[in-house]
Amino acid sequence: MIKVLVSGAAGRMGREVVKAVVGDAETQLVGAVDRYLVGSDAGLLAGVEAQNVVIADDMAQALRDSGAQVAVDFSTPQAVMPNIRTIVEAGVSPVVGTTGLKEEDLAAIDQLAHESGVPIFIAPNFAIGAVLMMRFAAECAKLFESAEIIEYHHDQKLDAPSGTAFKTALMMREARGHDFVRIGGDEESDGSSAPHSRGGHIGGASIHSVRLAGYLAHQEVIFGMAGQTLTIRHDTITRECYMPGVLRAVKAVQNLSGLTYGLEKIL
Ligand code: NAP
Repeated sequence: MIKVLVSGAAGRMGREVVKAVVGDAETQLVGAVDRYLVGSDAGLLAGVEAQNVVIADDMAQALRDSGAQVAVDFSTPQAVMPNIRTIVEAGVSPVVGTTGLKEEDLAAIDQLAHESGVPIFIAPNFAIGAVLMMRFAAECAKLFESAEIIEYHHDQKLDAPSGTAFKTALMMREARGHDFVRIGGDEESDGSSAPHSRGGHIGGASIHSVRLAGYLAHQEVIFGMAGQTLTIRHDTITRECYMPGVLRAVKAVQNLSGLTYGLEKIL
């Protein structure tokens, strides 16, 4: 049994992770951290039977008290870096799904993993369909001249662009070896009626972030060249889709080394 602490356990993803950990024969829920609903039983909050694991708000203390081997973090973009440092300092392996990490954060985490000898796993998307979307996008990036990413998320999402859009753009740039041809637009011209309408960009690929109630998580990668476009699209229907990937990472992380970034690395 792998002893697991869930960070962000009162959140939308955290509750789903608690349920998945409780329901898996190889994992045991031993700790739960959040700054919300502190003192509540993590199992009851997740809609399963009581686990005698209450939500605590002090990560370092909870790691010590619980004897966790792996800590799964689905918290917030502001909390994730301090959480990773606290988890690693306790000698516990982090499995991180929280998004909002930048390239410089990933470099710092990579260094932390090497200096501490504690393996760290991060995936901006734990859904198999999203992983395949990113892989296919990287393949297309080698041959198309231009690309744009449109990601759609629920209105409670704190960061933009999404971690999936960010990683997709990095993978596309890496596969291609150089930037896309980015078509200019309003932000370069004076007096635009709506500045930044062409979106942000990484490696020449424009990124547009839609935030609306009604959506969960969706992404389109559109490639274009003279006379044709190709669209790759992934839709998340429920948060359940992330759990096989999370459990796979929980079971794998202690046998990895350094920083592993992306679910595809352990599939
Ligand atoms: P959420 O419902 O807002 O849950 C986050 C929880 O973390 C909240 O209860 C929040 O409390 C709590 N929190 C705040 N600071 C904390 C800290 N220092 N330590 C522990 N917990 C803390 O958000 P969500 O929808 O579950 O999403 C969580 C993260 O997962 C987001 O970054 C999201 O983009 C990401 N995500 C990743 C994947 C993936 O496959 N990798 C999939 C879906 C979502 P407060 O409300 O009091 O701030």
